Amino acid sequence: MQYETVVGLEVHTELKTHSKIFCGCSTRFGSEQNTNVCPVCLGLPGVMPVLNEKVVEFAIRAALALNCRILPFSKFDRKNYYYPDLPKNYQTSQYDLPIALDGYLDVEVNGETRRIGITRIHMEEDAGKLVHSGGGIAHSEYALVDYNRTGVPLLEIVSEPDIRSAEEAKAYLEKLKTILEYIDVSDCKMEEGSLRCDANISLRPVDTIPFGTKAEIKNLNSFRAVQKGLEYEIIRQTEVLEEGGRVIQETRSWDEAKGITISMRSKEQAHDYRYFPEPDLVPVVVSQEKIEAVRRNLPELPDARQKRLMEQYGLPSYDASIVTASRAMADFFDATVSQGVDAKLTANWLMGDFAKHLNAAGIDLENTPVTPVKLAGLLALLQKGTISGKIAKTVFEEMWNSGKDAGIIVQEQGLVQISNEAEIIAIVDGVIAANPQSVADFKAGKERAIGFLVGQIMKQTKGRANPELVNKLLRERIS
Ligand SMILES: [Zn+2]
Repeated sequence: MQYETVVGLEVHTELKTHSKIFCGCSTRFGSEQNTNVCPVCLGLPGVMPVLNEKVVEFAIRAALALNCRILPFSKFDRKNYYYPDLPKNYQTSQYDLPIALDGYLDVEVNGETRRIGITRIHMEEDAGKLVHSGGGIAHSEYALVDYNRTGVPLLEIVSEPDIRSAEEAKAYLEKLKTILEYIDVSDCKMEEGSLRCDANISLRPVDTIPFGTKAEIKNLNSFRAVQKGLEYEIIRQTEVLEEGGRVIQETRSWDEAKGITISMRSKEQAHDYRYFPEPDLVPVVVSQEKIEAVRRNLPELPDARQKRLMEQYGLPSYDASIVTASRAMADFFDATVSQGVDAKLTANWLMGDFAKHLNAAGIDLENTPVTPVKLAGLLALLQKGTISGKIAKTVFEEMWNSGKDAGIIVQEQGLVQISNEAEIIAIVDGVIAANPQSVADFKAGKERAIGFLVGQIMKQTKGRANPELVNKLLRERIS
């Protein structure tokens, strides 16, 4: 039997507010353990939480960017469970009246656009962090708790079960991350846990409507893990069903090292948590004016930006999607093009040499030695024909290493392209005279021989001869 995959994702994203959601403690990542704490986030008796207004604003921003309906009246609830990283023994979250409902985002997979529904977005607090001795829970003798993360604001963004493949799940998460970065509510560093993903996955026979029994996969902490974990789970569940078995509703953990999912516990139901309204916090009332004020301050979002680059500059959709994949890159592109250089040329460089150097150096765009103005300087020389494409690569390398302007490097190293016909003809004639065999080969129809001759000319001019002119003149002089 053929099965269809049904996936819904639950994404937790830490908001980049300076202070925690219900107290004034710092949210800084990497502080000394248990230093960013106070009686409120430690859940000591008698304390009263106060909601951080910035969290509501960030939640509204995310809700608008994800096309959600914002509830004018929402409230906090207590989700009760016992775990050492949760000092209050309940998590302050939102249950039946979350801040936002009914949104969507569009993802592109294999050239096809798919709309994935977003069920809800709610605000909640993060728990602390258990540090296991020996580095892992399996062989640990004891665990220590760091409460610095307790009370760091989170948004939980829950998708509809609209995702149909592991690849689509990855595309959804990537798109969501891009949007959250664009609107500047989270730094979305998966390696630091500020973006985390759990997946609900089930299978059903193709062309049937009822959902199969789902498993929840936890610990999908990279884009690769989301894809690999789901691919594994599709195979596992298919095998269970084909052997006539039943998929059990349970929570499973992705084991990155082994490349498998492992059963953790049977899945909890909402009623297991005994949710009840949080009596220490007033409901969250959001006015239409507030929503409109936040909307006015939203930046241009990735889809709109991609569309604009295609319309304004005629960029192909592939280029536009790569350039807008991060806000930093899109800003860099706009800043470079605003210097008057060609947009397609800029996109080519950003996707090519620039991206290569960025990846190799492992640095963020903000810290690159080649600024938009400097890159535009290089591209302008290339556009004017002052330097050849090959030389431009060399100059770029030098710019990256020294931080110097392209113009200065070209001057200092005498890299100006030779486009003077008489000068090139002299060299062409010399090379023709010195290589009679190659000339004869070319005349006999061996097209490859011309490559050798061009190479000789480039060698003599240290790559500075205008390649188009060299090709043209060489062919003219031989025939
Ligand atoms: Zn605190």
